Amino acid sequence: MTDPDLRDPAPRHRDDGGFQEALDRLIHEWDRSNPPEAFPAGPLASLAAIGGLDQFVVLTDEAAVDALADALTAIGGADLSLGRVFEGHVNAVQLVHTYGDDAQRAALHRHLAAGRCFGVWNTDHADGVRLVTHERSGLRLAGAKSFATGGGHIDRALITARRDDGIKQLVLVDIGATPDRADNRGWRVRGMKGTVSGRFDFEDVALAPDALIGGPGDYEREPMFTAGAWRFACVQQGAAQALLRHWRDHLVQTGKRDDPVQRLRFGHSVAATRSAAQWVRRAAKAAEARTADAIPLVLMTRGIVEDAALATMEGAARAVGTASFFEDSRIDRITRDLGLYLRQPVPDQARDRAAAAWIDHDHWGERGWW
Ligand SMILES: Cc1cc2nc3c(=O)[nH]c(=O)nc-3n(C[C@H](O)[C@H](O)[C@H](O)COP(=O)(O)OP(=O)(O)OC[C@H]3O[C@@H](n4cnc5c(N)ncnc54)[C@H](O)[C@@H]3O)c2cc1C
Repeated sequence: MTDPDLRDPAPRHRDDGGFQEALDRLIHEWDRSNPPEAFPAGPLASLAAIGGLDQFVVLTDEAAVDALADALTAIGGADLSLGRVFEGHVNAVQLVHTYGDDAQRAALHRHLAAGRCFGVWNTDHADGVRLVTHERSGLRLAGAKSFATGGGHIDRALITARRDDGIKQLVLVDIGATPDRADNRGWRVRGMKGTVSGRFDFEDVALAPDALIGGPGDYEREPMFTAGAWRFACVQQGAAQALLRHWRDHLVQTGKRDDPVQRLRFGHSVAATRSAAQWVRRAAKAAEARTADAIPLVLMTRGIVEDAALATMEGAARAVGTASFFEDSRIDRITRDLGLYLRQPVPDQARDRAAAAWIDHDHWGERGWW
């Protein structure tokens, strides 16, 4: 039976002006205090209400890339857990739009118009998730996912499941009615508690015929797979910028600004964080334009953001002192959340791959490279 919320098939389109203003108002509200360390259901609903969940399905031009980067940065600065949920949603809907067929794209727009939230779950628990074909009952899933952000809260999970030949297949699963399959008891972490990124059990889930999105191996198809990491780097960058702002407020409010040692330390972090912001924007444009240099640029951008964020976390703690470790401090909260969120896959390998690519390909003679 058709969900009554899904009857309106009209796709919604990007509307920069009104959305950006509405988002700015929400960010201002969220940023005033530390949000609860639980799944951000309220803020997510507010984001859906202003059209945030269906704004970025297709990035038509550079202005659209900037608009998404602005949103990721702003949300990351206000609430990193919400930033992670939002980034996962954008990743999922772009994947469905890119690899889905016409009918799957139409369904996607119906779900988005109804305010549904999506996520991408690739990280496997134990042996991971497998596609199993039963003679009588058709296609089913077996296994579980870990780091399943939003499990028990979001509506649709785009997951990777292994076929018999070992290749990963994207599968879109309606999980809205089965929150009890989420097990977040193990998600006992110092930061990012609100993402509730625990385990999700897919054992014996029956799949609708249209559940398979794209073909085998599409999830890891380049450059989208690696270059898409600019989005999480952008969310991290937003948190580092927010940290810097709270650090500055402290220097102003306490009179510490008159100390040259405080200014020197602050200046170092401003330089590192602003430089990282420029890497992120450049990487975003390259990734979305699918330029030849996009993958190494994004890989190195992850490292640049990580370095700037770590320096800013350490600098803010030294500048503010013990007050930055109290529970009601925004600096404490952002530092705990960012500390964990910086732990994205194979960070050392990412920098190494970037350097190797730049040694391998001669970009040095091209003025445009700089
Ligand atoms: C808050 C949060 C939310 C998340 N949400 C999701 C989600 O919704 N969906 C999802 O799919 N995933 C999610 N993840 C998982 C995430 O994408 C990464 O997979 C995970 O954070 C990486 O974990 P790790 O640091 O343990 O592993 P690794 O990336 O493996 O890194 C650990 C360390 O080992 C090193 N290392 C790794 N391999 C090698 C090697 N072969 N040789 C030498 N050194 C090596 C790395 O460089 C690093 O120093 C989430 C993670 C977090 C923190």
